[in-house]
Parts: sequence; structure tokens; C-alpha cells
Amino acid sequence: MMTIDCIDETFRPSILVVEDDLNALSLLRTCLVRNGYEMSSAGTLAEAKRRLQAGDWGLVILDRRLPDGDGASLCATIRATQPHSYILMLTGEATAEAKIEGFESGVDDYVTKPFQIDELLARIRAGMRIVELQKALLASSRRYEALSLTDSLTSLRNRRSFDQEFASRFEQARRYERPLSMAIIDLDYFKSINDQFGHAAGDGVLRGIAQILDHGTRRSDFVARIGGEEFAVLLPETSLFEALHFAEKIRSTIQSATIRTEAATHHVTVSIGVANVPHSLVTTPQEFFNAADQALYRAKARGRNRIESERRKVPVRAVLGDAQTRSQATM
Ligand code: GH3
Ligand code: MG
Ligand code: MG
Ligand code: MG
Repeated sequence: MMTIDCIDETFRPSILVVEDDLNALSLLRTCLVRNGYEMSSAGTLAEAKRRLQAGDWGLVILDRRLPDGDGASLCATIRATQPHSYILMLTGEATAEAKIEGFESGVDDYVTKPFQIDELLARIRAGMRIVELQKALLASSRRYEALSLTDSLTSLRNRRSFDQEFASRFEQARRYERPLSMAIIDLDYFKSINDQFGHAAGDGVLRGIAQILDHGTRRSDFVARIGGEEFAVLLPETSLFEALHFAEKIRSTIQSATIRTEAATHHVTVSIGVANVPHSLVTTPQEFFNAADQALYRAKARGRNRIESERRKVPVRAVLGDAQTRSQATM
């Protein structure tokens, strides 16, 4: 299930110093460590790139003239790997043109050598304040994004999330010619639960079903609540044969489950429509969805508590055997 990022209050951003001058480096190390910062260093562009990939740096102090190139060229890499990082250029290039060029390549602040240690520390503190704000902002926007994709009743993914995921998984399966199955699962006569026990009990039953689906699927599957009492599961790398077995497992688990709510103990059943690609008649996500939806419609029409799939010339009994005793699917 989805995890939501939290801001770590004890997070202490560390500093990466990209500098090839050993004297400058030793001075920086002494004063940064004395002021409580964690610091690492890199003497070349190549080493700096490796460190940027490996760690989470709040602030990068960047020299320009390095043995293997211009430090300014690192800005793009830093922005790509650590969007919250603050880049402070520390260089002997003191002309206005050099400074403008530095800012244009993406640095946030510019200090020229020889530098005043107190001024540099004050600028580092100012930079760190911005890093912390950026981190908090990124974490909260990730949290809102996660919330906007989550169904608040069941904590499963919601319809919006399903629509996004469905389109991209369909496209991937089509491009790489991989099998993809989907199941639409709809509760049978659910309205009567609300009518008999109240809406809160109905909500409890929906949460119970969501739990069964969550436990009954793999990490690589995708489970969403796509309507009031309707769920969808995407099953990557899954043939129609395997998807029918999955659907039967879900159908029979739900049929035999006891779901307790404040109001009562409930026994419910579901009808399931299954579809699979590649399929000669399915070329768009909408057609794929419709295939599963029409199968679900047939499952309802043929008596509920059963599974139907898109029509194919394969005898379903050969797939499900005697397992689906109460609901013989046909294809
Ligand atoms: P069928 O077997 O044909 O699917 O019958 P049904 O009663 O399950 O289907 P119908 O579409 O007639 O009714 C669906 C009901 O689901 C009606 C609606 O009140 C209820 N419902 C939809 N969303 C929620 C929800 O979030 N909470 C609760 N408690 N009920 C909901
Ligand atoms: Mg240098
Ligand atoms: Mg229903
Ligand atoms: Mg429905």
C-alpha cells in the first residue's frame, strides 16, 4: 500500500565540498566540523558526480576550476539528483562576468576567494534555512499528491490513481508485448447492506473487502476502489488463465469471509469481470476496461457470485475445473 513521506525533524543536512585545493579544503573542514556540520569532499568532477548519486546533500560548496573541468557544469547534475540542494560557488573567479555566468548555470550564492570564514558560515546558515524550507515543501507536496491518489475510506488507490496507472501499464504491456490482466470486482446486492444496517455498516464492509483485496494481491499488482462498491485489480505479467485463478481465489475468500461491523456480522459475495491483453480486439485502455466491464455485467446477469471473462474460444471449465462450484464461468 502507499507510504506517505513524513518530515524528519532531526534531519541535519550535510555539506559536500567540491574542491581540489588541499589548503582551502582543510580550512573548510576545520570550520565546518567545528560548527557542527557533517562534511564530505570530492577533488574532481568525476568523484563529485559519484558522491551526488550516492548521498543526500543539503548544501554543495563548489569550486570552479577543477582538474577535470568547470565546477559550474555540475549544477545540472545537482539539480537533477537533489532538487532541494543549495549550491554555493566558492571560487577565485571574481569578475562580474564570472559571477553572472555562475548564477546562470544554476548556483544559489557566490563567494570569492580569499574568503572570510565568518561570512562564509553566515551564508551557509542562510543556505541551510532555504534547504530546510525546500525539504519541508517537497515533503508536503509529496504528501498531498499521495493523498490525492488515495481513497480515504479504504486507503486503497482511488479512481484518479487507477486512471493514471491503467493508462501507463496498458501502454507498457502493449509496447513490450507483455501479458496484462485486469479484474473488476463489484459487491452483490450491496445496497441492501446500507438499507438494512445503515451507511456506516456499508462503509465497514467496503473496508473489509479492501483488506481482503490488499492481502490477496502481490506488490506488483495494483488495487484500487474505482467506484462506490466497485474495485479494480491490475495484474501485470498475468495470463487469462492465471487471472481467472486469481479471481476465483478472491471470489471464494470473500464468500467465506465474515466481516464484522458495529452493526452486525456480514457475509457478502462479489461478481468479477476479467479481461486480458494482448487481445486482437483490444487496442486502447478504454476497450480493455470495457471488456472487463462487459464481463462483469454478464456475471451479474448470470446470477452473481461468479466470474466471467471476455469471450474466447477456450472452455472455462478447463481453467477453473471444479474450484468454482457455485459460479461456473463461461467464455
Ligand atoms: P448489484 O448486485 O447489481 O451490484 O447490486 P448493488 O446493490 O450492489 O448495486 P447498486 O448499484 O444498485 O447499489 C450500489 C450501492 O452502493 C448504492 C450506494 O448507496 C452504495 N454505495 C456506494 N458508495 C458507497 C459508500 O461509499 N459507502 C456506502 N456505505 N455505500 C455506498
Ligand atoms: Mg580549484
Ligand atoms: Mg454492486
Ligand atoms: Mg456497482
